[in-house]
Amino acid sequence: MTEVERHSYDVVVIGAGGAGLRAVIEARQRGLSVAVVCKSLFGKAHTVMAEGGCAASMGNANPNDNWQVHFRDTMRGGKFLNNWRMAELHAKEAPDRVWELETYGALFDRTADGRISQRNFGGHTYPRLAHVGDRTGLELIRTMQQKIVSLQQEDFKTHGDYEAKLKVFAECTITELMTDEEGRISGAFGYWRESGRFILFEAPAVVLATGGIGKSFKVTSNSWEYTGDGHALALRAGATLINMEFVQFHPTGMVWPPSVKGILVTEGVRGDGGVLKNSEGKRFMFEYVPDVFKGQYADSEEEADRWYTDQENNRRTPDLLPRDEVARAINSEVKAGRGSPHGGVFLDIASRLTPEEIKKRLPSMYHQFKELADVDITAEPMEVGPTCHYVMGGIEVDPDTGSSTVPGLFAAGECSGGMHGSNRLGGNSLSDLLVFGRRAGLGAASYVDSLESRPAVAQSAVDSAARTAVVPFDPPAEGAAENPYTLHSELQQTMNDLVGIIRKADEISRALAKLEEIKKRVRNVTVEGHRQFNPGWHLALDLRNMLMVSECVARAALLRTESRGGHTRDDHPQMDSNWRNKLLVCTVDGEDVIVTPKDQEPMRQDLLELFELGELEKYYTEGELASHPGRQA
Ligand code: FAD
Repeated sequence: MTEVERHSYDVVVIGAGGAGLRAVIEARQRGLSVAVVCKSLFGKAHTVMAEGGCAASMGNANPNDNWQVHFRDTMRGGKFLNNWRMAELHAKEAPDRVWELETYGALFDRTADGRISQRNFGGHTYPRLAHVGDRTGLELIRTMQQKIVSLQQEDFKTHGDYEAKLKVFAECTITELMTDEEGRISGAFGYWRESGRFILFEAPAVVLATGGIGKSFKVTSNSWEYTGDGHALALRAGATLINMEFVQFHPTGMVWPPSVKGILVTEGVRGDGGVLKNSEGKRFMFEYVPDVFKGQYADSEEEADRWYTDQENNRRTPDLLPRDEVARAINSEVKAGRGSPHGGVFLDIASRLTPEEIKKRLPSMYHQFKELADVDITAEPMEVGPTCHYVMGGIEVDPDTGSSTVPGLFAAGECSGGMHGSNRLGGNSLSDLLVFGRRAGLGAASYVDSLESRPAVAQSAVDSAARTAVVPFDPPAEGAAENPYTLHSELQQTMNDLVGIIRKADEISRALAKLEEIKKRVRNVTVEGHRQFNPGWHLALDLRNMLMVSECVARAALLRTESRGGHTRDDHPQMDSNWRNKLLVCTVDGEDVIVTPKDQEPMRQDLLELFELGELEKYYTEGELASHPGRQA
């Protein structure tokens, strides 16, 4: 029998980013015992890197803002493929979640009259992003950690133990979810990264909040942890993923020097007045306003510039179109030979704000460019280009409770799917984490309360998880040993080149063939040494997950024969209304991915009526709109 450290909790939250921490707080406040497990140090989740802000229609910067406007913007951004119920809950609840953070101790930047300041971002009709300079995610995480400490202090008073009801397990990776014979969640199995020792959490409810999948792509804004673990854990436990073909390539990543390629340049730069230019000095975004957004964006530089100070009488700058549009525009300019020296375009804030304003509003960007690229952004333009940033696809969940299709398994944040449809608006992730992190914590707590018996973890399942984890230490039974770093690099290059920002059927098919080859070779991955801090072994285990989610992305991308949001098919360049309500659902059979189309539930009538018929006609089929009151009149 394998030696395994054992713990028992009501709820185990995997992931200590914004979604995970908000779920932890909720479940603990409902009286349950909660463990939070994270792969990296506590406090170093992706959320901490979020710069621009958190979208919530508080109406502080423009009183015309409200949840309906936010809902409409979110649906437009996602090209009407979003789970409308999630978009509704998100738009309605985001302001309360931001306020609540201030009750935990957060302090957002202020307007002149003392209200929470809100900044412009792509696709948002009004300035809507509550922010703390360009370090908003840091404040979010800092505040929720502070809240967790205060809850632990309460527990100390009651139980004489700070960790009686809430304990953090940092630098601990979960590799398998456990289910009982009825298919219900019974726990989670993993290892301590430092010692390699195994650990088992027995728990009837697990909340996955593991973030994104960016490390499957070569050029990415994501850090080492984002290997799609939650997506793969859910699939293996029997849950479904949706929308995996939709991957967001943020338009502005650093392109130079090579060592920092992909690092994010916040959209806040454009929100605060920065503009994109090509090598001829032209503000090219005016040429790229797509038909569905015609009339909503300024068509001259003068109007676009006036909009920053007078939004009532001018239309917004096309520099702030949704991210998918801007990323494609940059790609086209570079392809047409009008790019910057290092294969991007120019982003100019230097000629738009004073050096003092730039340093005050965008301090991290100033330091990032100065230290990493030796560029002074107060004096010269930045060079930027698309970078893999966010996955819209994820675990299929019930909008109200965050429950997946597996009893006891919940998900929230970037690893869940549906909320953002085919493309996420900037700022809508931080609010998503707060709204749905809370709901998943609540959903898990209610589920545990409703149970008559707790599912048990079978010893055979623990032994099997332990055996799977140590396979990379065994030399292959036949064939040559494979190196995890080589395979990872081949996987990243394949996804980048063949399933990247612009896709074609033959390229995706080539990618799938390569993924099949890597899948076979992965069985022979061999690492040296032992389980004590062994990054090669960690990568060997992560590779399995990256391969599985990459196959989901590629298979779904091949099936969807249209272009929409974060999925652009060169061979099917138009958006096709027959595809609008189709979800591509991923499941697995062993290590093989199966993708099946299914129809989304039609949008509730009162929400549909928030849109002009003329706008809906750009997205919906004639049949779908037959019952719209505009058609009855
Ligand atoms: P994360 O914050 O990604 O946390 C995931 C957690 O899961 C981590 O603790 C990790 O260690 C843990 N984990 C993963 N796998 C395992 C495992 N197997 N076992 C144990 N633990 C595991 N969005 C906005 O709305 N506004 C912004 O301004 C903004 N700026 C951004 C800037 C950058 C540079 C980046 C990269 C993203 C930005 N985003 C922004 C997006 C947003 O930050 C992320 O989508 C969001 O933070 C994801 O939060 P999460 O809680 O889902 O997961």
